[in-house]
Amino acid sequence: MAESIKEKSKYDFIYIGTGPILILDALNETLKGKNVLMIDSSNEIGGAWKLIDLFGLEKLENAVHYLMPNKFGYKFLNEYLGIELIKSKNKFYANKVFSIPILLKTSSFKGKFVHNIFREMQMKGFSFANFLKNLFRVDSTSTAKYPKNGSREILQKLHVLLENINIQMILKTPITGIEVIEKNKITNIITSKGVFSTNQLIISHGFVPPNKMYINYEKIKLDEKIYPRPSLHIIYKKKDSFSINKLSKFSQIIFTNDPCIKYVHELTQYIDRDYEQKDTYALVVALKHHLKNEQNTYNKVVSILEDYKIIPNKDNLDDISFYWQDILLPLLSTDDLLLLQNKSKGLIRAMITEELNSCIGFHQERWDFLKKYLSKTNL
Ligand SMILES: Cc1cc2nc3c(=O)[nH]c(=O)nc-3n(C[C@H](O)[C@H](O)[C@H](O)COP(=O)(O)OP(=O)(O)OC[C@H]3O[C@@H](n4cnc5c(N)ncnc54)[C@H](O)[C@@H]3O)c2cc1C
Repeated sequence: MAESIKEKSKYDFIYIGTGPILILDALNETLKGKNVLMIDSSNEIGGAWKLIDLFGLEKLENAVHYLMPNKFGYKFLNEYLGIELIKSKNKFYANKVFSIPILLKTSSFKGKFVHNIFREMQMKGFSFANFLKNLFRVDSTSTAKYPKNGSREILQKLHVLLENINIQMILKTPITGIEVIEKNKITNIITSKGVFSTNQLIISHGFVPPNKMYINYEKIKLDEKIYPRPSLHIIYKKKDSFSINKLSKFSQIIFTNDPCIKYVHELTQYIDRDYEQKDTYALVVALKHHLKNEQNTYNKVVSILEDYKIIPNKDNLDDISFYWQDILLPLLSTDDLLLLQNKSKGLIRAMITEELNSCIGFHQERWDFLKKYLSKTNL
């Protein structure tokens, strides 16, 4: 990865963002001999899949992540990137049965039974036929896979590739303007580090359009069609005397009918901790969309997690810290992406990146150069 900018500021392709799919596509184009630039306002590569450092713990996953089923995506990740994928073990459903908080394995009949009763009760009317159908159906929670060593492995592999294949990349650089001029077959990208021109601009679902965006001198304004998905990292330190027993032995907990929590994902299992950090644990909680970043929300979430014994109760805690993210998904709708592609007559290319695995499955068909490179390389 090259941080400095070449003298030449005209590129075959400029990518906005450094999410995994964009990086893989940019690597393929670079291997083809194309002149590529990637620009990101973030100081880290990876987009939604980047790693973050919080309260002394390093390289934590940024969110609750999993890989939705797609055999071509799984094949690419496994066979070309060398990532071992597993159906995540130790997944639980969290439900209150007669007001008693209970965690049941998602793979157990009891777990599915209780989950499906509550799921059906959330629908307009309880349908026994649907309940039975869902009970015996293999649903997405049981078919989704996960990298055995956490989603950080995807990032590690990308870092290795970027060290070996030289892509021009500028981070910490927001794009302030874009102008597409069809008659010159050129797009200019305006940033605080200068203006960069390209034959084709590549954008994706994570693209945040700048205020100044023109196609053939016409100002483009896009509707916002985004869905809030707040997320809360919780880093806690248990008392030395308290035995953690089952508390940290889960990968994911799915809350069927909780008013606050959608999922909880355990993160400590994927990081390296110092000896002094042996009592420190990290979770990320995906929350219901209406919740706000305030103390009241933190208190509610902690009390639910305590009820289910997912974290130790107050008497057994030494410290607890929170990190909130107001996540919006997608940042740009597929309709808007395609509108920009069509209006620019292809000078802007829209990449569909809504879900990691299925979109890798879709795009990998074009990545012949990358696949050839990967099949000769031991990552
Ligand atoms: C919190 C979260 C959890 C997710 N979990 C899953 C999951 O479990 N499984 C799954 O399949 N999918 C998941 N997704 C969805 C999917 O992976 C993302 O939608 C995907 O990351 C989109 O890829 P992207 O590269 O388009 O955008 P992103 O990954 O969002 O990255 C966009 C990057 O572009 C940069 N950028 C955007 N606009 C500008 C600009 N104007 N100037 C400069 N830089 C800019 C941003 O800084 C960012 O780094 C999740 C998404 C999020 C946000």
